[in-house]
Amino acid sequence: MDSKIWLSSPHMGGREQHYINQAFDSNWIAPLGPNVDGFESDLEQSLSNKVQIAALSSGTAAIHLGLKVLGVSKGDEVICQSKTFSASVNPILYLGASPVFVDSELDTWNLCPMLLKKAIQDRIAKGKKPKAIIAVHLYGMPYKVTEIHEIADQYNIPVLEDSAEALGSSYKSQPCGTFGKVAALSFNGNKIITTSGGGALCCPTNEIKNKIIHWSTQSRDKGVSYLHSEIGYNYRMSNILAGIGRGQMEVLKERVNARRRVFDFYKSELNNIKAITFLEEPEGYFSNRWLTTILLDSYDTREELRLALNEDNIESRPLWKPMHQQPVFKNYPSYINGNSDALFERGLCLPSGSNLTNIDLNRVTKNIKSYFSVC
Ligand SMILES: *Cc1c(COP(=O)(O)O)cnc(C)c1O
Repeated sequence: MDSKIWLSSPHMGGREQHYINQAFDSNWIAPLGPNVDGFESDLEQSLSNKVQIAALSSGTAAIHLGLKVLGVSKGDEVICQSKTFSASVNPILYLGASPVFVDSELDTWNLCPMLLKKAIQDRIAKGKKPKAIIAVHLYGMPYKVTEIHEIADQYNIPVLEDSAEALGSSYKSQPCGTFGKVAALSFNGNKIITTSGGGALCCPTNEIKNKIIHWSTQSRDKGVSYLHSEIGYNYRMSNILAGIGRGQMEVLKERVNARRRVFDFYKSELNNIKAITFLEEPEGYFSNRWLTTILLDSYDTREELRLALNEDNIESRPLWKPMHQQPVFKNYPSYINGNSDALFERGLCLPSGSNLTNIDLNRVTKNIKSYFSVC
C-alpha cells in the first residue's frame, strides 16, 4: 500500500533545533526564558505590533484565561459559534458559565451576523445579557469582522476572537488575531505552525498580558514568601517548545503560501466536477487555507468519497460537527438556521499540509477523479 497521506502534519523549517539547543546550552529548561520572550516578540511582529502576546501551553488555555479576563464567571452566558472545534466551548464550562450557540452564514461558514443579533436580543429579553461572544475564523477563513464587531459594539459585548486556525490570515489587510478584545492562537501539531503543543493569548495592553502571565504561572504574588491572593493555573509555555515556535515563525509566510497553493491545485484539478464546490474568499478576505474544504452534493457522496480515499490510505475528514449537535452540549440554548448542519453533512476537508508533494497531491486528485469517473 502507498504511504499514508495525512490531513495536516507538522512541517519543520530547519532552525527549530538551533533554538532548542540554545535552551539546553543555557539550561533554560523551564516555562520561561529567552525563547519564550523571542517567540512572543516574533508573534507580535507578525500581528503588526497591534497586540501583546502571552505564550501559553495551549490554545484551550488561551481561551480559558481570555474568557476569565473578559470577566466571564459562574452563571454567565457566553455566545459561541456552533460550527467550531469543541475547544472553543469547553473553557466556558471550566468557568462555570454556559454556552449559547449561534449558527453560520454561507459566505465564510462562520458566525451569522443576523442570527447573532437575534440571539443577543432574545437573551436580553429573557433577562440575561451575554457576557462575551466567541467568534471563530474556521479553517483559516476570517469571519465577517465588520458586521460581527458592529453588533458586538452596539450591545457593548466583548468578542473573544478564536484565531486558533487563522495565524497568517487577514481581513482588509489587518491580521487575524487583532480584532477581538482578546484573541487565541494555537500551535497544536496539526495547525499551520506548531510547537507540538502550545497556544497564545493576544492581549490589548501590556497590563492584561502581565495579568495573563501571572494567572498562567500559579498567580504567585511578588516577593519571596509564596503568597497567593488569586487562583492560579500552570499554563505558561515551556522555553523548549517556544524554541520550536521561533524556528517555525521563520517560515510562517512560506507555510501560508504552500497551503494556498494546495487549495489552488485542488481547485484547478477538480473544478470541472459538478458535485464539488469550493469556498471562495470574499473580497478583502485572505485565508491561510489551513485546510482545503470541499462541499459535495449529498451526505452519501461525501461519505463514499471519504471511504474511497481512506481505502488508498489518504486521510480526509468531515467538517466540524456543530456544537449544538454534540451530546455534551445539546441541552444548551441554540439559534439555528440549518447551515452548519448542512455543511457538516456535505463537507469534507482534504489533505492540506504544507509538506505535501506534487506526487501526494496528484494521488489525492486521481482518487477523487476516479471516484467521479472523470480523467
Ligand atoms: C485547535 C483549536 C483550538 C484549541 O487549541 P489547542 O492548542 O489544541 O488547545 C481552539 N479552537 C479551534 C477553532 C481550534 O481549531
